[in-house]
Amino acid sequence: MTLVIDNIAELVTNDPELGDGPLGVMTDASLVIDGDTVLAVGPSGAIADERLDAGGRCVLPGFVDSHTHMVFAGDRSEEFTRRMAGEPYDGGGIRVTTEATRGAGRDALWDSLQQRLIEAHRAGTTTVEVKTGYGLSMDSEIELASLAAEATPEATFLGAHLLPSEYEGRADEYIDLVCGPMLDAVRDRVRWIDVFCETGAFNTEQSRAVLEAGRAAGLGLRVHGNQLGHGPGVQLAVEMGCSSVDHCTYLSDDDIEALAASDTVATFLPATDFSTRQPYPDARRAIDAGVKVAMASNCNPGSSYTTSISFCIAMAVRDMGMTIDEAVAAVTVGGAVALGRTDVGRLTNGGPAHVTILDAPSRHHLAYRPGVPLIWKTLGADYRLPTAPDPN
Ligand SMILES: [Zn+2]
Repeated sequence: MTLVIDNIAELVTNDPELGDGPLGVMTDASLVIDGDTVLAVGPSGAIADERLDAGGRCVLPGFVDSHTHMVFAGDRSEEFTRRMAGEPYDGGGIRVTTEATRGAGRDALWDSLQQRLIEAHRAGTTTVEVKTGYGLSMDSEIELASLAAEATPEATFLGAHLLPSEYEGRADEYIDLVCGPMLDAVRDRVRWIDVFCETGAFNTEQSRAVLEAGRAAGLGLRVHGNQLGHGPGVQLAVEMGCSSVDHCTYLSDDDIEALAASDTVATFLPATDFSTRQPYPDARRAIDAGVKVAMASNCNPGSSYTTSISFCIAMAVRDMGMTIDEAVAAVTVGGAVALGRTDVGRLTNGGPAHVTILDAPSRHHLAYRPGVPLIWKTLGADYRLPTAPDPN
């Protein structure tokens, strides 16, 4: 059964050969899909078995959320409230979530993960990365890795998220556990390994050990870095050839230079800077220097409890110096590059039919109308929803 989405005022393909500019924008367009595959992009008026009238709306590739911590239990709204009243953020609240997650049980974790995926789908996201990292023990990290892998092909092992309290003063011992038995137990379930390389989390040597062990296990490499200050995360990520280094709130000239000369993507997580009252990263400076960039939600209960990519776009345009087109690219094709994917993040013949339709005539409304639920329909996804992903 083929479907034509017709009467599209603005179709963002992310293929410059199909339309105008780097986003390959077509006007007065149609999109023909067959199940999960794009059959044709072209002018309005194409014929198929069924027709969905877009009514002059804007159609984009589904958002690629390349950085989330969606599998967890518990609530940290009180911590957020204290922070808004002036308490500083230091990442220590991760342990609160670890305690709740260890005690939650598999069914409750799965149900809450599913609810967050439904929420993300309604917000236009069709590819999502999910990290472990709130278990921080053998049993709990194995459970989280298997839940993440059941939900999405983009599952990441983040055993080195924070030192669990029972290893206080024994960080090297914990890193040995992460790099040895824990990694062995999860390596077949996950595609990526990640480490929080920052003062208060893990130092350069410990982080390098995690990445080296992950590489030896055949996993792709990612880093959390430069979130709370000018840390060593970016330089280590470039040195290790990581696919992405995420946060990048603080970038020195040397960091920018190293990123620009590498294939490592700088992934900005502005909802975190919003929720922790940090400065926003200077995306303009990075882009102008030639750094490849992406942007993601970092959905997690402590520092960024949102699945809204539209919200990230609005912040990037208002406060990070990105143009609307750069922000749209960062959450579609940029996220795809950060995940080493060439299929998602674009709408081209033969590619996956992962489609976000705005209840607006152009992509500019994503930043122009902040806080408004602008997603009219989301079609397709490469993660597992409780039922077939119906239009909203
Ligand atoms: Zn994160």
